[in-house]
Amino acid sequence: MPSTQVFKGGVIHSLNPTTLEILDDATIVVTDGVITAVHKSSSEIPVNALPVDIVPQVLPRGDFLIPGFIDTHNHAPQWPMRSLGQGLHILDWLNTVTFPFEARFADAGYAAKTYEHTVDDFLRQGITTACYYGSRHAEATRILAEICHRKGQRAFIGKCNMDRNAPDYLCESNANESLRETQDCITHIRNLPGCAANVENALVKPILTPRFAICCTSELLSGLGEMLKRDESLAMQTHFNEAQQEIDATTQLFPDFQGSEADLYESFGLLNRRSVLAHCTIMTDYEKERIAALQCGVAHCPIANMTVGGGFMVAPVRDFLRRGIKVGLGTDSGGGWASQMLAVIRQAMIASNAREVLSAGQDKALSLEETFYLATLGGARVLSLEEHVGNFQVGKEFDALRIATTTGIHSAMAPTEESDSLKTMFEKFIMTGDDRNIAHVYVKGRQV
Ligand SMILES: [Zn+2]
Repeated sequence: MPSTQVFKGGVIHSLNPTTLEILDDATIVVTDGVITAVHKSSSEIPVNALPVDIVPQVLPRGDFLIPGFIDTHNHAPQWPMRSLGQGLHILDWLNTVTFPFEARFADAGYAAKTYEHTVDDFLRQGITTACYYGSRHAEATRILAEICHRKGQRAFIGKCNMDRNAPDYLCESNANESLRETQDCITHIRNLPGCAANVENALVKPILTPRFAICCTSELLSGLGEMLKRDESLAMQTHFNEAQQEIDATTQLFPDFQGSEADLYESFGLLNRRSVLAHCTIMTDYEKERIAALQCGVAHCPIANMTVGGGFMVAPVRDFLRRGIKVGLGTDSGGGWASQMLAVIRQAMIASNAREVLSAGQDKALSLEETFYLATLGGARVLSLEEHVGNFQVGKEFDALRIATTTGIHSAMAPTEESDSLKTMFEKFIMTGDDRNIAHVYVKGRQV
C-alpha cells in the first residue's frame, strides 16, 4: 500500500533565482515521499483528484510550507567548536583550535555521541540536505553516515583527506592509506540500507573530500582524481580560494600553477560538474571562467568569510550568477559560528551589500528572493540534486519545512499581524525567525 499525505495551505518556493511562487491556498499530495500533485488553489482541484480516504493536514493562517534548506558546506566535527578562535587567521585557527578538536574523533565513542547531537541540531535548523566534511577518521565518518541515514537526513558524507601539513596526531601516514580508507568509506555508505539500489538518488551519498591542497600531497590528489574519473556518480568537495593566507601557502607548495587553484585542482582531475568548491572569495576572472566551463558549483559561506580573521572576504556571488555558475549556501559549521541556515541567508544579504559597495555599484546586492533560492534550489543544483529536491515540483521528493509564525510561539520573530500577507509573514520569518518557528521537518515525506 502506498502511503499518501495531503497538505493544504500556504506554500512558498523558488521557481528560479528571482521568482518566488507564493500560494495562499495550495494543496500538495505526497505519495511514498514523492510529490504527486500540486494544486495551486482549492478552486482548481479537479473533482475526485484527491484521495478520499486521506485526511488532509490543513495549515492554519500563519503556517506555511517551504522547501528544506540545503547546506552545501558543513564540517560535522566542528559543530561542537563553533565560535572558538575568533580573530585567528585561517591557518592559525586550523592549527590551534580546529585540528585538536577534530583529533577527538579518533575515538569512535566520542564521534557517536557528538554526531547524534550534531545531526539533530542541523535537522532542527531545517537543513534537510547537508554536504558534510567528516574528520580524517574512517570509523567516525562511517558513524556520521549511519546517523544521518537513521535520522533521515539527506547527506553527502566525506572522509577528510590530509596526508601532510597537519600535526602528527592528526595527519594521515601516507597517500595510499588515505585512498584505501576513502574507498572503504564509499563502499560502506553505498551499502547502507536502501542506498545501494539507487546510487544516483540515495539518501546518504559519499563525496571525496581533500581538505585543501595544502594538506594533500600530489600523490593523494592524483589518486582522488583517478577515483573521480572512474566513478560517474561520485562527487568531490574542497576549499577553494578561501583566504589570502591559504592562497599564498598553496602557491608556495605548487609553484607551477602560479597561484591558480583552478589550474591546480583541474590538473589533478578534480574539477567537474559534481565538484563543490567552498568559499571562492578571491577569484580572478580566469578562475571564474574555468569553474564556469567545468560546471563546478560554489558553496558560498558568508558567515565564515566575514568572521575568520585576516580579511573581510566577500565572495563575488553576483558575478558568479551573471556567469551562470551554480551557487548554494553553506553554514561551514565551525568556520563560522552558526548552524542556522536562516543566519546564513541573512549574512549572504549583508555580504552582498558589501560587495555592491566594493564594486562601486556594479554587483548589485542580492534580494531576499535570490538568497532564499541559494538556500534551496540553488544548493540543490550545486549538489546535482535539482531533479530530486529544491522546490515543490511534481515528481520531486518532499523535503519540506512547516513554518509556524502565529503568536503564542516564543521566538525572536517579529510578530505577525492580522493584515499580514503570506509574503510578509515569510519575510518576517526569514529575517527574524528562528528554529522555534520550524515546526516540522520532512525528508522524502518522512517527518524527521
Ligand atoms: Zn570549510
